[in-house]
Parts: sequence; C-alpha cells; structure tokens
Amino acid sequence: MHILLMGPPGAGKGTQAAELVKAFQIPHISTGDMFRAAIKEGTEMGKQAKSYIDKGQLVPDEVTIGIVRDRLGQDDCKKGFILDGFPRTVEQADALTGILKDLGLSLTRVLNINVPASDLIERAVGRRICKKCGATYHTKFNPPKKEGICDECGSELFQRADDNAETMKNRLSVYEASTKPLIDYYKKAGLYTEVDGRQAIDKVTADLIKVLQG
Ligand code: ADP
Ligand code: ADP
Ligand code: ZN
Repeated sequence: MHILLMGPPGAGKGTQAAELVKAFQIPHISTGDMFRAAIKEGTEMGKQAKSYIDKGQLVPDEVTIGIVRDRLGQDDCKKGFILDGFPRTVEQADALTGILKDLGLSLTRVLNINVPASDLIERAVGRRICKKCGATYHTKFNPPKKEGICDECGSELFQRADDNAETMKNRLSVYEASTKPLIDYYKKAGLYTEVDGRQAIDKVTADLIKVLQG
C-alpha cells in the first residue's frame, strides 16, 4: 500500500496518517515532520528550511525532493508508506514519479482530504502537538483529557510557530497557487479519490479505509 495523502494545511493529513499507520502498519512520511526534526537538531538543512516555514512559504524543491528521495529509498518503505505533505508542487510530483520508478514502486492511491478554506485557519490555530510522541490534538475539536498534556504519553503539548492566522493566510495562498493543481495531475493519472474532511475524525478515517480496501 503506497499511499499519498493530500489536502490543504490543517485538513487532517497528520491525524489521519496516524490512524492509517495503525490500520496498515506502514511508515508515515511527513516532509513537515522531517523539517521540524531537522530544525530541532539544529542542522544546516533545518536552518534553511526554518526561514521558509516561518513565513508560510515552501521550502525549495531541491532541498525537499532530496530528503524524500533518501527516505523512500530506506528498506521499510518497500512494504508501503503514507506520504503526507509531499508533493506540494507539480515539479515535486514529477520528481516523485521518477523516484518511485527508480525504486520499482508505484502509488496505490492518492487521497485528498477536502476541507473548505473557511475552516482551515481555526483548525491550524487550535492545533496542539505532543513534544514527545507527536500526537496531534485540537483545543476545541479534539482536546486531550487533561489540558496541555498528551493522552498517549503524558508529555507536554506545544503549538507550532507557523500555526498562527497570519502565516496560515500565506500557506493557504501557496496551497491554492502551487499545490491545488496536483488534484488534476492525479485525476489524469487515474489515482485520485476525494474524502469529505469536514466529518468527525473517525468518520474520515472510516472513509479512507473504505477507499483503500475497496
Ligand atoms: P494537517 O496534517 O493536514 O495539517 P492535522 O491532522 O494536523 O492536519 O489537523 C489539523 C488540526 O485539525 C489538528 O488540531 C487536528 O486535531 C484537527 N482535526 C483533524 N481532523 C479533524 C476533523 N475531522 N474535524 C475537526 N478537527 C480536525
Ligand atoms: P500542514 O500540516 O499544515 O500541511 P506541514 O507540516 O506539512 O504543514 O508543513 C509545514 C511547512 O513545511 C510548510 O508550510 C512548508 O513551509 C514546509 N513543507 C512541508 N512539506 C513541504 C514540501 N513538500 N515542499 C515544500 N515545503 C514543504
Ligand atoms: Zn505524547
């Protein structure tokens, strides 16, 4: 199962990817998570990525494509993967096609979590993430049992620096201009399925699993 999870920022990709990992036991590959890990480690690539992420712009393709190529080449991806947040441009999508071809792999399905733009700022601004295990919560839509504390591991939650209304406006316009064209790209490839992301989290999961098993 080689899955590509698409959708605008805040649509629920990370939340759903965590559920699909449980259902199919394949790795979750998120370019956003990889950049945030590099920023935390203080690597040169992390420093470079941070300057773009903080402004809500895309990290340049040459950086992003390189880290994805390295990650997909690792052994655990042979049995499958859930790719989240990549590709975000047509150039990245073309690169992905080439990377998969070189590895002898192909995409099983491209799933787009569709959420109207009007809901996305509230979703991102209320997002809270566990410092230790990465579990994602929402102050209103998916609150932890104890405020600010992860249900899974008891660690503290934090808010991403780019999850503010100002940066989100940029991220949403970047999505419209650069990422949305990928919907047509994958429709033409015959791989595209859309799921209604306005439903409750478990309903969205059920829809995704239905598509993948169907
Ligand atoms: P993405 O990875 O697409 O940016 P996330 O999975 O991090 O999105 O979700 C963004 C925020 O919206 C999180 O705070 C998450 O808890 C919340 N969320 C996710 N799915 C839903 C849903 N179906 N309904 C309401 N809130 C949701
Ligand atoms: P979201 O969950 O809100 O969709 P991500 O965690 O996927 O956000 O990405 C956070 C930021 O990391 C993006 O706004 C962008 O700056 C950078 N980023 C992530 N994936 C890519 C990519 N494929 N190409 C370029 N930049 C990316
Ligand atoms: Zn945790």
